[in-house]
Amino acid sequence: MKPAPFEYHRPTTVAEAADLLADHGDAELLAGNQSLGIVMSNRLATPDHLVDLNTVEGLDFVTEREEGVAVGAMTRHRTIERSDLLAERLPILPEAAEQIAGPSVRNRGTLGGSVGEADPAGNYPAALTALDATLELVSADGEREVPVSEYFIAYMFTDLREDEIIRAAEITTDPFPPERTGMAFVELKPTAQTWPTVSAATAIRVDDPDAADPVVEEARLALANAADVPLRVEAAEDAVEGEPLSEASLDEAANAATAAADPEDEMHADREFKEEVAGEYARRSLNRSYERAQT
Ligand SMILES: Cc1cc2nc3c(=O)[nH]c(=O)nc-3n(C[C@H](O)[C@H](O)[C@H](O)COP(=O)(O)OP(=O)(O)OC[C@H]3O[C@@H](n4cnc5c(N)ncnc54)[C@H](O)[C@@H]3O)c2cc1C
Repeated sequence: MKPAPFEYHRPTTVAEAADLLADHGDAELLAGNQSLGIVMSNRLATPDHLVDLNTVEGLDFVTEREEGVAVGAMTRHRTIERSDLLAERLPILPEAAEQIAGPSVRNRGTLGGSVGEADPAGNYPAALTALDATLELVSADGEREVPVSEYFIAYMFTDLREDEIIRAAEITTDPFPPERTGMAFVELKPTAQTWPTVSAATAIRVDDPDAADPVVEEARLALANAADVPLRVEAAEDAVEGEPLSEASLDEAANAATAAADPEDEMHADREFKEEVAGEYARRSLNRSYERAQT
């Protein structure tokens, strides 16, 4: 099927794009077109206006800021996968990016499209939740910042207003000094180049990376596709903090992840299986982060 007719707009600035959204109530933003095209071709979305962000300047960047690192909304998965700055400061993002689908999707798909789509199985939604990121949103009325923890509200439903554009995600790097931090993004996939059954995004900061059994000072865990939103599991974080990582603390964290998970049945993975995978992949990801935090 072909998309329903629409009027196509090619703004060159964020302000122009925001004005177009303000002027046209039934408008949709176009980013990498890896999801929207399918939705529109099946006529599950029939916007009257399409506002193309591909010609808008200033949305494709990975940059250092005083507080940390910012990634622009039109930054492609491929760029995130290959960014030296992210590899050094926030390696969870390149690791999340490299596991998204195949090269054709990664060459076109964007961070803003993934966060805008807000699929709870999405890699960035989980990684940004683990990193406690903040989203910069722009509209014709002005700008606001929304913590990711408040952005994802329900299944593919967010705090983003219809007249707003995601400009960037900002991540504070203070809690994660690279020399004492390990991060990991691990996922179970039924087949290559498809969406994950469940993924686990983790970060661990230790007190002394040279110690034989360093103490976990801070841990973060977020799961993808384990609930109707990206799921931060603070009980699992608490279970591993304040002591060296051990089989006992990993068991407790895995149990907490399984208990927190509230997944939907899928064709190839029922609810019970996904709860189990949530626990097991939380364990694997925390363990890998801990190993990576050690020199
Ligand atoms: C075969 C296949 C497998 C995939 N597997 C995975 C996977 O394993 N993990 C994963 O995370 N993703 C996966 N994806 C999705 C992929 O990451 C897409 O890139 C993503 O869903 C949408 O990004 P996009 O840039 O293509 O956005 P588009 O398709 O262009 O837009 C998606 C939605 O976001 C909105 N939007 C876009 N940009 C903005 C913005 N700046 N501000 C506000 N709203 C905006 C659009 O209006 C639209 O509603 C897969 C996709 C395919 C086709």
